[in-house]
Formats: sequence, structure tokens, C-alpha cells
Amino acid sequence: MGHVDHGKTTLLDQLRKTQVAAMEAGGITQHIGAFSVHLSSGNRITFLDTPGHAAFSAIRERGANVTNIVILVVAADDGVMKQTVESIKHAKNANVPIILAINKCDKPEADPERVKRELLSHDIVCEEFGGDIQSINISALKGENLQALSEAIVTLAEVMELKADPAGLVEGTVIECRTDKGKGPVTTAIVQRGTLRKGAVLVAGRAWGKVRLMFDENNTMLSEVGPSMPVEIVGWKDLPSAGDEILEVESEQRAREVVDWRTDVEEEERIQKDLEVISAKQHEHREAHRKTLDTFYGMNWKQKNSALYKTSRHLIPQRTSERITDDNPTVPLIVKGDVDGSVEAILNVIDTYNAEEECELNLVHFGIGDISESDIVLAETFNGSVYGFNVNANKTVQQLAAKKNIPIKLHKIIYHLVEDLKEELNSKLTPIT
Ligand code: GDP
Repeated sequence: MGHVDHGKTTLLDQLRKTQVAAMEAGGITQHIGAFSVHLSSGNRITFLDTPGHAAFSAIRERGANVTNIVILVVAADDGVMKQTVESIKHAKNANVPIILAINKCDKPEADPERVKRELLSHDIVCEEFGGDIQSINISALKGENLQALSEAIVTLAEVMELKADPAGLVEGTVIECRTDKGKGPVTTAIVQRGTLRKGAVLVAGRAWGKVRLMFDENNTMLSEVGPSMPVEIVGWKDLPSAGDEILEVESEQRAREVVDWRTDVEEEERIQKDLEVISAKQHEHREAHRKTLDTFYGMNWKQKNSALYKTSRHLIPQRTSERITDDNPTVPLIVKGDVDGSVEAILNVIDTYNAEEECELNLVHFGIGDISESDIVLAETFNGSVYGFNVNANKTVQQLAAKKNIPIKLHKIIYHLVEDLKEELNSKLTPIT
């Protein structure tokens, strides 16, 4: 991680190049979001090639901790910058230790000591200042001192005693996803536990798959992938998301059950959240509206009601004998008007409706302007009607309403609108016997 232009991409390219050279593969390295470097000591380091906070945060937000160590890249000629500080914050929040790579040390104006001093004020204390942060001066461009950087990583990993169990069901994390023309949905993943083999059934987020093929970053086919190895997995039925946790399950049947269950729960949560937002917004609007009116007229709501809107009739429902009934009669409604004044007038009439009445009147939403598709969608959610005063509903809106069976009631006289609403309320009351 580090500030833009401080050399992250160059460093990763250089590390990757050394690797290709070391393997004498000479082939084309493809970008799969993660790659491994084999050291002469026999150790192997996996670099997550996802520079940029967004990817890191997205993975972190889902609770996955794929990163064991953060390499903080700071250019020696530029020093600590805004994103350097942000990177430090991210690493600290994630509780991941940092190794400092002071880059561009080949430049004549490079001043690594200044970088270390600047970092002190961000709680990054290098070993020479008595702290525990290892600091390596490198030149990513020239490939200088990368060996020392790798050794620093291995040393820290040993101190941290990073270990994983290669036995048991596989656990891992999705790093990147893409749809390949030939292979279909493909993910780059890091195995964190267990050993992944062909034929394994995996679940990630709301997707599942059966491992058909596995590749490394050099497009070499793999038959087994152990902990901390990056792998490209082919065989997904759908595309999971970056940061999703991968779990191996015992059968395809089980995988389907897990995905179905997750889909249902997510849908339920989404609907619940939407409804909460809608009702909070209505409350806010209504409160704001009342406040404006109160200050404007300087009198209380009911007084104003009778003083200013004598023309509008009060809503007094009447029982008749031939109406259909309902156990919990409610009239949910949305009111749209051409100007503030007309909407206010209608709301005032609605306000006179006695909440004790047998049929509840639920003003779901009100606003100014023509009736929109979102009004219809909202009405559908509440099974209500849309009342418009001096406004229109275009063809698309009308068609949507017809399709969803939502009545749109357009009026040009408030009195008529009120009569119409009364009619709707009356229709829900228990008939007189
Ligand atoms: P990133 O935005 O952090 O990924 O930075 P890049 O890797 O794209 O590097 C930004 C610029 O700095 C490029 O022009 C690189 O060639 C240059 N650069 C990167 N590392 C070094 C280095 O070690 N020395 C010098 N002189 N230039 C470097």
C-alpha cells in the first residue's frame, strides 16, 4: 500500500519478473490479482496484487483477513503523503503489521532518513529509533534490495508464527472475479486452510461451483493448492464477489441449500432496510412540513386548518350498507400536487381524519410534481393508491400502475379529491346491518 506514484506497481512488476526469470518460464505472466515468489531459501511469499485501498477495504469489510503483512511503499524523494497516512490507518485498523519499503532510493534527491522521521508522527517507529518496524531502502525500478525486502517479510512471518492446516475442508477468500469467454466465471482466490483439489464443491457468497480446473499466475495447471497459495479457480456456476469467503461443502446438494438460504435471508434484509428508510424519510418530511407551516402561520395546526381551508370538506366517513369489509381496514395513500400550497391543503384535510376511526388512513408519501414510477413502486409496497392534484401521470407510469393494479386518482378540484378519498375510506368500513 502507499501513495499514488510511489512505486507499488513497479515493485510488484519487478517482484513478478524476478519470479518468472527464476523459474526460467519466460512465459507471459497474466494478471490474476495475486502471485507467489519462491525464494532461494525455500520460502514462498504470496503478494496480493491489489494495490489500492478500495480492494483492500472491500475485502476487509467482509471480515476476511487475507493480508498478514502490509508493505508500506513510500517514495524517498516525496516523503509521507496523504495516502501514506491513509494506508497506515487501514493497516492499523486491520491489525496487520507493517514493513516499510522506502522506494526510489536510486534518485539523487532521495532522503530515506527524512521519511523515517516523518513517519514518527504517525506512530510508525523504525527499528533504528527503537521501534519494531523494519525498514528497507529499495529501488523498485532498478530491482535493488528486493532480496532484503523478501528476507524482512520472512523474518516477520516467523516472528508472527503464521501457520495454517493443510488438512480438512477448504477455507479461502475470493480476491478477484471475472468472466472469461472460454472458461466462464473465474475467480482468483487464496486458500487459507485445507488443500483444494479438482472436484471440490465450493460455496462463496451466493455462488457455488465445482472445481473443474485450477491455474497459477503463469497459467500452469495445478492439481493441488495448499494454504496461502493464490489460485485461479474455474467451475463456478455464478460469479461470487471479491472478499467473499470460500467454504468447501460435502455435496452439490448442500451447496445449493446454502446458496438458497443465503439468497432468501439477503432478500428479506433488503426489503426490511428499504421499508425502514422509507418510513424514516416520511417522518422527516412530515415533521419538517409541520414546522414550516407552524412558523409561517404562527398558529397551531388545527386552528390554521379551519381558518384557511374552509373550502375543503372534513373527512368524515359514512357507513353504508353495501360495502366490502376487511379485518384491519387501512387506506394507504400517496399524495402528489402541483405546488406546495395544494399539497398542504390536501394534507390539512387528511389531518382532520380521526385516527380512532375503524379504518386507518396511512399517508405513505407526499410530494410535489407529476406521478412517477417510484410513486407506483412505493404504492405497490404498501398496497395503496396514488392521489394527484393538478399533476399528470405519463404513459409509462400509467402502464406500470395498470400492470401492478395501483389506482391513480387525478383531480383538478380539491373537493373532488377529498370526496374520492372519502369514498375509498367508506368502502373499507363495516356495513350497517
Ligand atoms: P504506483 O502508483 O504506486 O503504482 O507507482 P508506479 O509504480 O506506477 O510508479 C510511478 C512512477 O515512479 C513511474 O514512472 C515509475 O517508473 C517510477 N518509479 C517507481 N519506482 C521507482 C524507483 O525505484 N526509482 C525511480 N527513479 N523511479 C521509480
